[in-house]
Amino acid sequence: MAKHTLLFLFLTICFGSCKKEADPEYRVPPEVEPYVQAFVKEAKLRGLELKIDNLIVEFAQPDANYICGMCKGPQTRQKHIVLGIQEFCWKEATTQTREGLVFHELAHCYLARLHTSKAFADGTYASLMNPDNTEVYSICLYPIDNGNDCDKRARRQYYIDELFDETTPTPAWAR
Ligand SMILES: [Zn+2]
Repeated sequence: MAKHTLLFLFLTICFGSCKKEADPEYRVPPEVEPYVQAFVKEAKLRGLELKIDNLIVEFAQPDANYICGMCKGPQTRQKHIVLGIQEFCWKEATTQTREGLVFHELAHCYLARLHTSKAFADGTYASLMNPDNTEVYSICLYPIDNGNDCDKRARRQYYIDELFDETTPTPAWAR
């Protein structure tokens, strides 16, 4: 009889704690939420229904100062994105750069995308999944002149297309 009681206790404890691990959480800061919603919308526009209800996003100091984001455990049900607290990562970044950063991490977490350094003939990264630049379709923070190089917003369509489909052809602006 004592054995059964112990077993029952053990099972109760296990069920109590194991269940919590299996239930994914959704916890995203309000300033990041619009970009997560935008990602879901862009996915839908390309025929992909994404249900993001298992995501934790938090601002923290990453392992190295130059890192602005990471997707922890892309294989697990609970997705966890850490965004760098360095000012250049978020506070001082443009809307497009913020979106680029969040989209890059979400692509790691939800699209199983890995880094790629593929580039166009002029050396411009051909993917938002490049290892170090999430400003590929951004405007300049401090425009030095009115040159075309300072406003790359027209390139957004291509980079988002490529995010969801790696076989997206080279756009006109890169030919
Ligand atoms: Zn990355």
